[in-house]
Amino acid sequence: MFKSPFDRSKNKTLEEVEEIFRSTREDFFLRKNRNLQFLLQKRYSQIDSLLTNCDRVLEIGTGAGFSKLFIKQKFISSDIANNEWIDECFSAEKIPHKSSSLDAVFTTDTILHLNDPVNFFKEVERVLKPGGLFIIQEINLSLVHKILIKTLNHCTYDYKKNLYLEKNELEMGPFSANAANLDLILSNNKQFNKEFSFEKKIDTKNEFLIYLLSGGITAKFPYINFPRFLLVLIDFLDKILLYFLPNIFALSRNIVFRKSPIKFSQIKYSGWAETVKKQHDCLSFDNYFDIKNNIELINLAIGRAKSYGDVCTLTNQMILKTDHLDKILEIDYKNENLTCQAGVTIDQINNEINNDNYILPVTGGFEKISIGGAIANDIHGKNFFHYKSFGSHINWIKILLSDGDIRVISKDKYSDLFFATVGGIGLTGIILEASIKIIKVKNLGLKVENIVVKNEYIFQHLKKHSRRNDYCYGILSFHSRNKLSFIKLGNFSSEAVVKKRNNLPFLNPFLMSIFFKFSNKFSHRLFYSLLTILYRKRLYKEQVHLNDYLYIYNNSLNYMEGVQIHYVVREADSENAFSKISDLIKSSGSTINLVVIKYFTDCDARYLSFPQNGFAVSIDVKSSKNIKSLIKDIIDTVISLNGRIYLAKDSDLSKDQFSEIFNKEEFREVVIKYNKMMKFSSDAAQRYNLN
Ligand SMILES: Cc1cc2nc3c(=O)[nH]c(=O)nc-3n(C[C@H](O)[C@H](O)[C@H](O)COP(=O)(O)OP(=O)(O)OC[C@H]3O[C@@H](n4cnc5c(N)ncnc54)[C@H](O)[C@@H]3O)c2cc1C
Repeated sequence: MFKSPFDRSKNKTLEEVEEIFRSTREDFFLRKNRNLQFLLQKRYSQIDSLLTNCDRVLEIGTGAGFSKLFIKQKFISSDIANNEWIDECFSAEKIPHKSSSLDAVFTTDTILHLNDPVNFFKEVERVLKPGGLFIIQEINLSLVHKILIKTLNHCTYDYKKNLYLEKNELEMGPFSANAANLDLILSNNKQFNKEFSFEKKIDTKNEFLIYLLSGGITAKFPYINFPRFLLVLIDFLDKILLYFLPNIFALSRNIVFRKSPIKFSQIKYSGWAETVKKQHDCLSFDNYFDIKNNIELINLAIGRAKSYGDVCTLTNQMILKTDHLDKILEIDYKNENLTCQAGVTIDQINNEINNDNYILPVTGGFEKISIGGAIANDIHGKNFFHYKSFGSHINWIKILLSDGDIRVISKDKYSDLFFATVGGIGLTGIILEASIKIIKVKNLGLKVENIVVKNEYIFQHLKKHSRRNDYCYGILSFHSRNKLSFIKLGNFSSEAVVKKRNNLPFLNPFLMSIFFKFSNKFSHRLFYSLLTILYRKRLYKEQVHLNDYLYIYNNSLNYMEGVQIHYVVREADSENAFSKISDLIKSSGSTINLVVIKYFTDCDARYLSFPQNGFAVSIDVKSSKNIKSLIKDIIDTVISLNGRIYLAKDSDLSKDQFSEIFNKEEFREVVIKYNKMMKFSSDAAQRYNLN
């Protein structure tokens, strides 16, 4: 009876595996098997030809080390079995190389020996540079090969596993294998494309007689040394046979994958107010290394595109979407600091820290915005009097500059770059990470009070109440006849124990958007009269969850129609400014959806940051024929009183108006000092003539 030369009776130790490779290698030099030499020469010269132009190449599963004898190109050999011809010893499922650091990875007859080949593919994808090659020469389970495996018992194959869900359970040893590994991974096309960004470039089935005549690579079957011309002829016959019947005869398979040059997609999005709704070219990475490697391509980083205008859009250039930089890295409750990646959203942080009664000192009216966006627009909340703007609570920012340099900047270190980045609408570099302050509050229940005041007194009431209350903002009823406004106060108190968010039905954002879409002056008057009754008679909930008070637009589908102009003028000029702007609105015949007013005190904001001492007013104007000229006139009025426009909500400021408000040259100087040029841009930046 036929006796297989493979001993699979017991598991092999790593030392025994190393010994097998050693004896295979010795045997190769001793026996001078021409047939085997021909086979290996053919295999490796194919790989060699693919490696031209590759600088950093890694072989995985070098085994007996034949590749170094045939491949001229320089490469690093590696294996789990540590013999002297091996450069690096590690498991193929955990490759100790940096992400995106190699031009090519090749492997011969290795994948079948892995417990977790899916993870191996992931590792190879990780270490390859975009566009890098993954070259595979592997056993092919043709009909003949399956018969050989059954007869020789040198390994097994198991088609039942779903390797995307479970691992193999292979015992240790060079011949323990699931020869179906590669087929299992590749046959699930949908899953493969979901998991990996590999494009298949070559897929051929090869080697039949030429392999059988070699006597095997680690096996020591008897063979007859053929002259070279005969081997060439046999190889030619193989080619004809395999051309017609690869699935019956081919014993090996060659595949070459190319890692997609970049994870690139075209995404249609606009700012919140949908002023620029366009297809954008976007990249997205989940690690700093890839971002750094592709820095030359990137012209703007964005968060969740929840700015109203075009600071978060850039037509015909490459945008980095940061939504995959979504990790909260550390929460230090003791020192009240939180470190996170730039794509982390405010609601992600709230979900993490709210249970322990911790909150972010400053957030805006919308929860699903990123930390990168919050910094780059230096957002403000309804508690400016106590906590100023978002930038006041940043310990440090990790920023990637245009030349790939990563710096940690703070109020003390590279302070010019720090202050230019806070509110710098993404033009100073890519914010990768930040450490921010968190604060502990009594509980998350807020006592709410709504005060009804005459329009003419709203500024002075707001100033007084901002000082005395934790949160405070005003809503001015622009079209109502009784000229009454509301001041909404919120205070933490130990009595206001509200554990769950409720999303008050009255403030249902969806209903609100419908209302504002179809509103006119008449519906407005009605709405504000109802509000006056509601507030005067105290018919509202007096205790709400903090987040219901802060984020009333959370579920809004999109902007409420029209344009928002958001300005701040100094305290002394506020009433004058508002009266001039009201006249402009009235004479234009426009409908105003909402006017929200907040009181700002002095703060540390510089360069392009919005806040300055005074009253910040946001006016939602319904679309109309002459809206553009109205907005222009409002901006001119703000400029004439030395006020500022909030860039996060702007889509109208001209380059001259921008230069009158902000010190453009001073900002550009800082950007160029660290970036050598104005590399980062946006549709807004181009409109402002900053680039
Ligand atoms: C309903 C609603 C209510 C709002 N209420 C308020 C409010 O009360 N107060 C307030 O201040 N704002 C408010 N805003 C505005 C909003 O908070 C800001 O526009 C915020 O910056 C949006 O964040 P984002 O993640 O969507 O950033 P995006 O809009 O995507 O980007 C904003 C800017 O940040 C830059 N940026 C983003 N990520 C990075 C990064 N990683 N590196 C470098 N630059 C980056 C972008 O280039 C862009 O210039 C509101 C917005 C909405 C939709």
